Amino acid sequence: MAVVVMKFGGTSVANIERIRNVARHVKREADAGNQVAVVVSAMAGVTNQLVSWVREASLLHDAREYDAVVATGEQVTAGLLAITLQSIGLQARSWQGWQIPITTTPAHGAARITGIDGAEIRRRLDTGEVAVITGFQGIEPDRNRIATLGRGGSDTSAVAIAVALKADVCDIYTDVDGVYTTDPRIVPKARRLPKVSYEEMLEMASLGSKVLQTRSVELAMVNRMTVRVLSSFTAPEAMEPARMDRLEDIGTIVCDEDEIVESQVVSGIAYVKDEAKVTLIKVEDKPGVASRIFGPLADANINVDMIIQSVTPDGMHTDMTFTVQGSELPRTLETLKAAKKEIGDFEIQSSADVAKISVIGIGMRSHAGVAAKMFSALAAKGINILAITTSEIKISVLIDAAYAELAVRTLHSVYGLDAD
Ligand code: ADP
Ligand code: ASP
Ligand code: MG
Repeated sequence: MAVVVMKFGGTSVANIERIRNVARHVKREADAGNQVAVVVSAMAGVTNQLVSWVREASLLHDAREYDAVVATGEQVTAGLLAITLQSIGLQARSWQGWQIPITTTPAHGAARITGIDGAEIRRRLDTGEVAVITGFQGIEPDRNRIATLGRGGSDTSAVAIAVALKADVCDIYTDVDGVYTTDPRIVPKARRLPKVSYEEMLEMASLGSKVLQTRSVELAMVNRMTVRVLSSFTAPEAMEPARMDRLEDIGTIVCDEDEIVESQVVSGIAYVKDEAKVTLIKVEDKPGVASRIFGPLADANINVDMIIQSVTPDGMHTDMTFTVQGSELPRTLETLKAAKKEIGDFEIQSSADVAKISVIGIGMRSHAGVAAKMFSALAAKGINILAITTSEIKISVLIDAAYAELAVRTLHSVYGLDAD
């Protein structure tokens, strides 16, 4: 018997029929004697609708009230699933974040979980009850208000609950049957990875593969929690109940790299289309200039990603190019204009039509030539590279957004990842 956390994303609970399907997955586990806590997302499209209503009400809204609104989506699903489970003869009860409680930081809209009291849920699981828990939300104890964890945050709720319950496995059910070498909706030849290391998954998630929220992978890695990605669209009866000695039969396991026997040089390719590039032209080239540009951006909580500094032909000036998230572009431009006094004179150019493509693999640590292969493959397709960043296990390039899909498909094939 195992303690299993099962998380179901928005498309898996999009309507009552799909919630019935989810209930059958849960029943399979409970009937096999596993203790089950279920974490649910809002029904597909609901969170987007709630966010758009908040924005329509006021673009400059209070973050606490944003959370009061957007956290409701998960409450609906949890109640509906508990009702459906009861209707097929299971003991089930729904739980919202504050009832457990799941405590968070006060950063409304992007809160982090600070603690989970798993005692009552454990007690209920011991009596054979299924706990259905709202993902994406917790309670910020200082003001006693509901806080949400950022988009895609139910994955993080699931892993955190699995850690608090000392679960044997955290199964993330979604609309694809595992983690693929790249987004299978863009590259039909993408292959499912039977296993992927925490480190690689962390890079893939943070570089754009939204199959798992980045923070959920971080939490799993720190706590050595085994996470498995599975499809809720596989017929519930066609799947075996979770057994710790047979986890590998299906889906993708996110685990320690030592558990992966055959590792590839490149295991995955990720892309982000929502990038924006900013260039400050002819900034005076003297000590402290970078800090005068990036200091105000940091103070404004704007995350800067790639940075390139190039000296202009006169030797006295520099061009500073960097990237930020596309949605942060207006705030970035405003912040720079406000800091013009400190930075000195400059012209500014910006473009939101850029994409970041990354190749990821732990094998890069011990193999040379991975970057060269990437650059020549892109050159052969006439794709210009605007910026490059690297780390031990990834190389990212910034390119014109119009070529994003061509670049992903080309690299997927060049690194031998295409399915036969
Ligand atoms: P959920 O609503 O279940 O949380 P998401 O939409 O957040 O589901 O994540 C699943 C989606 O992630 C898939 O439909 C797929 O298009 C996308 N995706 C991006 N990169 C990958 C990848 N490398 N492997 C699998 N899916 C990926
Ligand atoms: N419902 C939330 C969202 O759409 C959380 C989640 O699905 O993970 O972002
Ligand atoms: Mg998701």
